[in-house]
Amino acid sequence: MNIDKFEEDIKKCRFCFMCRHLSAVGNVTFREADTPRIRSSMIWGVMLDKSKLSNADFIDTIYSCDMSAACRFHCVNHWDENGAVLAARRDIVEAGLAPKDVSKLSKKILSSPAAASVSGPSDIVYYADADTMALPGEMEAFDKIAKKSKIKYATATGGDCGKALKVMGYWQQAKERLGEFVDSLTAAKAKTVVVSSPYVYDALVNDTAEFGIKLSAKPMHVSEFILAQKLKFPRAAGEVYYLESDYLKNYNSNLKFPRQLLSRLKASSPAEFTTDILDEEIPYMFGTNNEESYTCGEGAVVFAQLRPQIVKKMAKYVEARVGNPKADVLITASPYTKIQLSKNTKVKVLTLTELAAGCL
Ligand code: SF4
Repeated sequence: MNIDKFEEDIKKCRFCFMCRHLSAVGNVTFREADTPRIRSSMIWGVMLDKSKLSNADFIDTIYSCDMSAACRFHCVNHWDENGAVLAARRDIVEAGLAPKDVSKLSKKILSSPAAASVSGPSDIVYYADADTMALPGEMEAFDKIAKKSKIKYATATGGDCGKALKVMGYWQQAKERLGEFVDSLTAAKAKTVVVSSPYVYDALVNDTAEFGIKLSAKPMHVSEFILAQKLKFPRAAGEVYYLESDYLKNYNSNLKFPRQLLSRLKASSPAEFTTDILDEEIPYMFGTNNEESYTCGEGAVVFAQLRPQIVKKMAKYVEARVGNPKADVLITASPYTKIQLSKNTKVKVLTLTELAAGCL
């Protein structure tokens, strides 16, 4: 079984209480089952008795995990409970035990083409996934920044990078879809692929490596792309607070570009801007600590479709922590997170791209 590869991680996690406060789901359901320790204990139970894989409570708990990977990133030894949950999902799917909602969603995803539709050949391709497409302001902001930078680009839409299938446990299908998706970008002769959604960035950076798929273009999160243009931003961002992305932080070694861009936008003069910044030095991080995930389930990609009630509670949890709701603006690198916060709360929220465009 795939979970067997995580035996050491599971053995370490199942008696450990250290990161239980980093389970964003556990923080709103108050279920002990939604903590790394109990998920690990349950997976350990399946390792000892394979028949428990089909237990309905086990399957429900495994698919109720938000997959933020905050626990793995902040664990002193980086024990991989997140990877064990992913492996458990894969075992569930490969044993034909996928729950109805997961199975239905996977069929829906698989019924659409994996290849993206690209507007034409170009060195720079901006890929708008479904979450980005749901935020017209994000695409308009990118276009404004590109025009200001005098950069021509092609737009890719549709398609599927396989990430949602992968996090639901459909490994082989995810690999095939990512291969087709990458081929469509290669056919457009892209040298740089810019994406707004962190999960797509992670698929292009890490899943391609894991699946042995060659992407000839350089993947860039939009924050890196904007910084590289070295634009002048005449308007400084106001009272803004940054919500870290699961994929950019916990899956990609705390990618520095979103924080550097924020530093640039917060600086009232270029002299104040620094690219040499550490988390501890940033006064505008959201929340009470820099470890918790406030993404509303970004790591699980389709969490809002599978567990909408939990996502609503996660959004309310964020809303309850906004110091001054009338003035404070939350900034996210993730279109998914903006969609969930906008849908479920009254908080003011902008993407990094929208904030940057507004400062021009
Ligand atoms: S990930 Fe680390 S801190 Fe969290 S439960 Fe496992 S061993 Fe403990």
